[in-house]
Amino acid sequence: HQEFRAINFGAGPGCIPDSVLLEAQKELLNFQGCGKSIMEVSHRGKEFEKVIQETKSNLIKVLSIPDDYDILFLQGGASSLFSGIPMNLCESPNDVVDFIVTGAWSKGASTDGKYFCKVNKVADMEPEKFLTVTDPSQWKFSPDSTYIHYCDNETVHGVEMPPSTPDHFPEGRIVVCDMSSNFLSKPVNVSKYDLIFAGAQKNAGISGITIVIIKKSLLTKTKPSVPSVFNFLKKSQNNSLDNTPPTFNIYITGLVLKWIIKEGGLEEMERRSIEKSSNLYKFIDGSNGFYRCGIDAKYRSRMNVVFRIQDGNEQLEEKFVKEASKHNITDIKGHRSVGGLRVSLYNAITVDQTKKLIEFMTSFMNENKQ
Ligand code: PLP
Repeated sequence: HQEFRAINFGAGPGCIPDSVLLEAQKELLNFQGCGKSIMEVSHRGKEFEKVIQETKSNLIKVLSIPDDYDILFLQGGASSLFSGIPMNLCESPNDVVDFIVTGAWSKGASTDGKYFCKVNKVADMEPEKFLTVTDPSQWKFSPDSTYIHYCDNETVHGVEMPPSTPDHFPEGRIVVCDMSSNFLSKPVNVSKYDLIFAGAQKNAGISGITIVIIKKSLLTKTKPSVPSVFNFLKKSQNNSLDNTPPTFNIYITGLVLKWIIKEGGLEEMERRSIEKSSNLYKFIDGSNGFYRCGIDAKYRSRMNVVFRIQDGNEQLEEKFVKEASKHNITDIKGHRSVGGLRVSLYNAITVDQTKKLIEFMTSFMNENKQ
């Protein structure tokens, strides 16, 4: 990490490994000797064909994606899938979709969903301020939902669901999961899901590309009336190249995947995530209430650590953000809807950088506690 580079704990777009940016810089004007930037080549030409195929096969490799799944690269952000998914999967607006509402993003999906289907909230954690999740035994699935939607990691509220979550769903249901903010942070048993989607701008590259991993058998559900940009079947049939895809963004995701492989794969990403997040939570919990994370320990996110200073002393929180920037620590303000502080520990953040943050938090506490 070069000295002048900020230690960027932003939630998204988040930090990108220096080596990925340097590689992109190195070949920016002359991609693999073709005399053009990857931004300037045709999406149907041989240079880009190689990039998209390599990106796909490396994604298959790191996540061990089984053969009966396809990968789509879409535009419009993960938010576009909040309508894109019901458009493709629901036969009529009378279809019922089960949503587990555990934070801002699953709530957002249920809000957009109601234009395309009947929304059943299996659980709604908003009255609990999204600080916890009810026990799966209390979830109220509808008897015949078209699919179940949940968000694996709620970026705003700092709530992460356990990998066992789909095991609590009624058998045979289609499972849709928004993994935008913990995608590629750990190994995932893809076969538990029918559709996984993720905006790339946290652990998988830059904004402007949304990755969809979809069970091929689901593609038959798409009606011809689904507009082309949302049409999963058409995207699949055309290798996501039926219109111009965000070529540079797919290229960057390809570089990020190569970086993950070089660093030791998703097992290593998970090992680092556990180390970084447990160091930080342990420190917060041991601070005698100076710092406090209100999230139920069972559901605390390894990716987005949300906390308050002195139970919401806004003046002190503002001072904290200001002083942190003097230590090159940036982007730690909580989401505007919840306030407080949020530290995102995406893959490009190192264990050492998290230690530096904890050192700063220690000295700030010692200087400011009464
Ligand atoms: N889902 C989750 C979990 C997110 O964190 C975000 C953005 O931060 C979104 C969906 C929306 O993504 P986008 O901004 O790409 O539409």
